[in-house]
Amino acid sequence: MSANYLPSDASTINLEQATSLIVERARQLVNRLVEQRGHGRPPFLSEEYAPLLGIKGIEKADLGEVSAILLKLPEGDVIRVNQNHNPARQNFSCAHEIGHALLSELKLEPRVDQVEFRTFDSQAHAIARAKAKERLCDAAATELLMPEAVFKKHLSGFGVSIKSLEWLANIFKVSISSTAIRIAEVSTEPCIALLWRPQRPRRPQPGTKSKALRLAWHIGPGNRSQGKGNYAPKDMLARHTSTLYKAYQYDSPVKCRKLFRLDAGIEQFMPIESKGFGHGEARYVISLAFPNR
Ligand SMILES: [Zn+2]
Repeated sequence: MSANYLPSDASTINLEQATSLIVERARQLVNRLVEQRGHGRPPFLSEEYAPLLGIKGIEKADLGEVSAILLKLPEGDVIRVNQNHNPARQNFSCAHEIGHALLSELKLEPRVDQVEFRTFDSQAHAIARAKAKERLCDAAATELLMPEAVFKKHLSGFGVSIKSLEWLANIFKVSISSTAIRIAEVSTEPCIALLWRPQRPRRPQPGTKSKALRLAWHIGPGNRSQGKGNYAPKDMLARHTSTLYKAYQYDSPVKCRKLFRLDAGIEQFMPIESKGFGHGEARYVISLAFPNR
């Protein structure tokens, strides 16, 4: 049985349906907020949404490795968020916790538990379920902070580029990587977002620097339609001699062409824009690739 298997029992749903339900509920919250404040201009902040769900407040605390937690207290729910993270990350972490509140409000958790995953290993099953729930909360958070219609309007005004990626992240008060994923999801012009990090040497030696970037993730227009037309770069490494690596070394954006492979095995060179973000250990490169340019 696969995740797409749908018995006639109405209480069982697949993940696609669960995603639509939670995103739809998030959209209702966006509309309520817009109505309440009388305008639909970004940013959309977690602290604006919390009261709409009866969440009493957002508290900042040192949570160590944890980004945020939703506390069910007798006097009302409270979100506690990691004060050591930057404001954009805090905004998304809180919105993710609001996603958890929506998940339980919609009683989706027991229904996700009934979804059959493509594995016979019961432990792998539990992990797949937990991951599926986290993805549902991320989908809700994304719609809350970057409502599709508003985000699309801004994106088409700016045009898709690394420059507009930075503008949008600032305007919507979300991280560069969340913004890149959102662009790939909703852009009218097909666009693939990629994130590169330094490749870790197998036996790291003090003082030696990474000589290549490795692809951490990519998301393309195909991810929305369940793998149809999903492009991946043919080479998962960008060596220190490559143009892309310059984006990691310096702060200005770089343009180059890269070979991508479609699911069907078709290969295509595409223009790709890249820029480095963050400092030191946390530095990474975001690329946007354009199949139709
Ligand atoms: Zn979570």
